[in-house]
Parts: sequence; structure tokens; C-alpha cells
Amino acid sequence: MSNKNENTKDENKWRQSTKLVRGGLDRSHHGELSEAIYMTQAYAYDSAEQAEQSFTGEIDHYVYSRYGNPTVSMFENRLALLEGADHCRALASGMAAVYCALASQLKAGDRVVASRALFGGCEYVINTALPKFGIKTEFVDGSDLDAWKEALSTPVDAVFIETPANPTLEIIDIAAVAELTHKAGGKLIVDNAFASPILQKPLELGADIIIYSATKHIDGQGRVLGGAILSNDKSFIEDELQPFYRNVGPSLSPFNAWVLVKSLETLELRVTRQSENALALAKFLETLPGVERVFYPGLTSHPQHDLAMKQMSGSGGTVVSFEAKGNGKQDVFKALNKLQIIDIANNLGDLKSMITHPQTTTHQRLSDDERAAMGISPSLVRLSVGIEDIEDLKEDLTRALG
Ligand SMILES: *Cc1c(COP(=O)(O)O)cnc(C)c1O
Repeated sequence: MSNKNENTKDENKWRQSTKLVRGGLDRSHHGELSEAIYMTQAYAYDSAEQAEQSFTGEIDHYVYSRYGNPTVSMFENRLALLEGADHCRALASGMAAVYCALASQLKAGDRVVASRALFGGCEYVINTALPKFGIKTEFVDGSDLDAWKEALSTPVDAVFIETPANPTLEIIDIAAVAELTHKAGGKLIVDNAFASPILQKPLELGADIIIYSATKHIDGQGRVLGGAILSNDKSFIEDELQPFYRNVGPSLSPFNAWVLVKSLETLELRVTRQSENALALAKFLETLPGVERVFYPGLTSHPQHDLAMKQMSGSGGTVVSFEAKGNGKQDVFKALNKLQIIDIANNLGDLKSMITHPQTTTHQRLSDDERAAMGISPSLVRLSVGIEDIEDLKEDLTRALG
């Protein structure tokens, strides 16, 4: 579909690190070493016949950058190769990907079930935007398999989950939910932004569609927004997503696609180092006097540690949450304001470490009851761990919570 790269190399056989650096490379006749940015809206044809054939699909020729662009294709092909997906579409943001994956395939009367602890934008789309069009939506506690069994004992059209959940880092059993979803006649969509494509491969676990906010680990350097939808489901891609994408217009810009192509090259190195730092900091936080409790899937104290290890490549991920001692907001603010290295910021997956207080930032819109149902207490803090020297990060956290 988006594959304009008539490549004879057997990229599928390459190992992950090679795919990330060289996959999807579509060099022009100039032989440029770094991927080219095709900053163009439209494309010229050699003849009127060629123009006609491009529109009928008889020949493979780009026609308009809302539909496809060579730099965007390089990003799509590289990411698809990484996931082992037949199809990838790149979008302007993670939320564009979430909305298009759902809206392109659903109609009035359809039923959607989602895990309760969702990113704010995902919660808005499922709880507010889709119901306006007559789509029935409901939420379950994602880590409770009995709740899934109950909810999926009646037919469903789509199931939407995020795991690990933000910010409590609960884990959802992707393989089990995939099986229940398929029995109920629906498609499982996994928002994989938190785990990143390095640690978790939802298609291999039975999911039908993967969503990314490429803004998070994939860029990982605080620069551009981006998103992606990946799937092996040909009819979803060709009959539903593709016409929706082309006509609604959520396309990724060629410049941002180029930034993301270059970002994929270092993704594995960054996520590996971030995860190592995260595990070390999770253990270290458990020893700090100012910390009440640490939530990290890589710790044996995490209630779903075994499941996390199985489905996340033996890693706990790059995000650690913890409850600070004291009386909530006031003491958390005092601690955060002492940090000299770790930024107070609500992004995640970045190579700079960042810390946020969910109650007053990312989850501020929710009521106290809604936050309590999601396990977000006033003393909960979320730390996205970067690639800085681990000793400097420990010293910084000691300054705040020691
Ligand atoms: C950030 C995020 C999104 C939205 O992505 P944007 O690129 O900000 O639009 C969706 N889901 C999850 C889990 C996220 O963390």
C-alpha cells in the first residue's frame, strides 16, 4: 500500500538492530547516505497516460502527499518491518492514530469495550466522541480478567487497551484479551506507546491493530508529534483505514517523518538504556526515606511481574511510579521543586528524565472518585526515566526524597 520501495533485499530476515538502521531505505539516484526529505505536496508525471495510470493504480507512483509521500513511506516501512506488520500508516499525532483506527471501522450501533485507565485523549475519544455517533462504549478494569470475560460474553466490535497503564503501570494480559475479543467477534486494538515497539510486540500476542504515539519513545528526543497504525488485517487496512485516511487528512508531514526515520535508528539503544536506568531507579526509590511505595513492572513486588516479564521482553519498561510519604500534593510539590536534573514535564519516553504529579497535571480533569478508581492518589508521582548517568539521577532523587 504505502510501499514504494521495490527492494530486492530480504529485509524481513534482518535482526532488529539492522532493521532499525536500514529498513525501508529508499535511496534516490543520488545515493544519499542519510534518508532524503521529500518536502513536496504533489508529483509530476512524464505523460498524461502516466498520470491516468497512477490514479487507476496500474502503476506505483505517488499522486498527492495527503495519500502518501516517499519520506513518510520510509518511516512506515521501517516501523512495519520492526513490528512484523504487513501494513503501516503514519499519522500526524498519536491521537490522530487512535481516532482514525476507531472511527474508520465503526458505525452507529457498534459496541466498544476499553480498559479504564487510558491516556486522556483516548478516554475522550471513547467516552465522548464516539458515543455522539451512536457507538456504544464501556470500560472495564484492565487487569481483571474476570471483568473482561464478563464484558466480552456479549458481541463486541472493537476492544481498546493500553498496557502498561498510565500512570499506575498495571499490566493487561494481551494474549488473553485477544482471545476473548476474537470469540466475541471483535478486533483488539493495543495502544503500545508506553511499552514501545522494542519491548512489546502486540501483533505477535494476538492483537489485530497497534497504535503508536510516535511522539513518545519513537522520537524520544522531544521534537515532533507523530503517530502510526499497524496491522496485518488486509480488509481493515484496504477497505476501512485507507479510504478514511486519504479523505479525512491526518497525514504526517514529510519533515516530521524524516525526524522519526532517524529516531528509529537509535530507538533500541535508547529504550534499552532507559529500561536499565528505570529498573535501577525503581530499586533505589524503594530505599529512599521519602518514598512510601514503588510501582514498577520490573520489580518482583509488582502484582503482575511475571506477566510483564513474559509480554514485555523481560523488561519493566521506562516508566516508574511511586507514592511519596507525607500529605499528598503539598509534599510532592516540595520534593519536585528540589530536583536539579530531572525535568518537571508531563511527556514520557524521552531520553531526558521527566517527572509529573498526575493528580494536578495529566489526570487533573478527572474527579477525585474517578482518580481513586484508577489508583491515582494525591501522593502518586510518575517518573519517565531517560539515558542520563544513573548516579546523577540517584543523587537528584536523593536531593528530593532522601
Ligand atoms: C501520548 C499518548 C497518546 C497521544 O499521542 P499524541 O502524539 O500526543 O497525540 C496516546 N496514547 C498514549 C498511551 C499516550 O501516551
